[in-house]
Amino acid sequence: MIEITNVTKIFTGRGAPFTALDDVSVTIRENEFFTLLGPSGCGKTTLLRVIAGFIDPTKGSVTLDGQDLVSLPPYRRPVNTVFQSYALFPHMTVAQNIAFGLEMQDKPRAEVKATVDEMLALVRMTEMADRKTSEISGGQQQRVALARALAPRPKVLLLDEPLSALDFKLRKDMQLELKRLQSETGITFIFVTHDQEEALTMSDRIAVMHDGDIRQIGGPRDIYDHPAERFVADFIGDTNFLSVELLETKGEVAQIRLPSGVETQVRAPDETIAPGPVTLAVRPEHATLLGGEGATLPGTLANVVYFGTDTHFHVDLDGGARFVLRQQNQHGQTQVFNAGDAVTVTLAPGVGQVLRD
Ligand code: ATP
Repeated sequence: MIEITNVTKIFTGRGAPFTALDDVSVTIRENEFFTLLGPSGCGKTTLLRVIAGFIDPTKGSVTLDGQDLVSLPPYRRPVNTVFQSYALFPHMTVAQNIAFGLEMQDKPRAEVKATVDEMLALVRMTEMADRKTSEISGGQQQRVALARALAPRPKVLLLDEPLSALDFKLRKDMQLELKRLQSETGITFIFVTHDQEEALTMSDRIAVMHDGDIRQIGGPRDIYDHPAERFVADFIGDTNFLSVELLETKGEVAQIRLPSGVETQVRAPDETIAPGPVTLAVRPEHATLLGGEGATLPGTLANVVYFGTDTHFHVDLDGGARFVLRQQNQHGQTQVFNAGDAVTVTLAPGVGQVLRD
């Protein structure tokens, strides 16, 4: 278990001091696939480097199973890193690259060989053991970089955007591959990405970062279905934001009044949001034009956009706001709504969440 407690990093270079991490605390569990997700510059890589030991925190502590890490140099930490650039040795073979860290640790030759063979099988590169790494594809280099980092059996593997150099198809394959490697080895993975879809597909839990701060931590479903604040709702997935009036909150249930005057119940992160004008977030796939039980918002259909698997409906609500709905397409289904139609957006009970700004 990694415990990061009140970690602050202030860079003091030639310019003005810059706070890259601002009092960050998070606990990462054993065997977890944990992702740091956020836009460029939010401090993900800095936090990863603090864990690896390439950067000293200005304040705060980092412990692994209760042992202080900050006082240990990087090579003494039971932690390894896979970089975006892979950093393989091009003149060495695949097997030699994987063996490198083990040989540095003066492991007996037989043990090195056994581990290299095991790692080659793990990343499905046994056939390529004797190729130079300059003579294999980008995806294969990625596998070798992973095998090399896993070979010394670190307790924690840090991965800094390791898939960003791969093309779309290979990236999808490697996402599944990484998840498999993590569950087969039982090693804790801390994965950095700015790609929300990647984070949602692979992670046990995600920390959403913004401006040097963790804004929400939760499982993929939790973060997607129940974003706690506007930044998270906006950064992850598509979201409709509606100005509504909060009347009352009880626990996680908020009573609100929609622009149409209709009152309904939605979720609230907690009771700390004061009654009055607030923002309601609704995912495009959680509302419907097909009626049914729920609160209604009348409007006019502005656009219908067909995407193959689903169709997007852009509705101009009475009162001026734009609302986008996404509906899955069924085989053989005919289109019943057309641009210009008067329509009604229905929010089923419990759909939508009041946000903290
Ligand atoms: P990206 O996805 O672009 O890599 P990131 O979230 O990983 O972004 P960091 O690399 O952690 O971001 O950087 C966080 C902030 O700290 C950035 O604004 C960056 O410019 C700043 N920063 C990083 N390293 C230094 C440094 N050595 N000196 C001064 N500022 C730095």
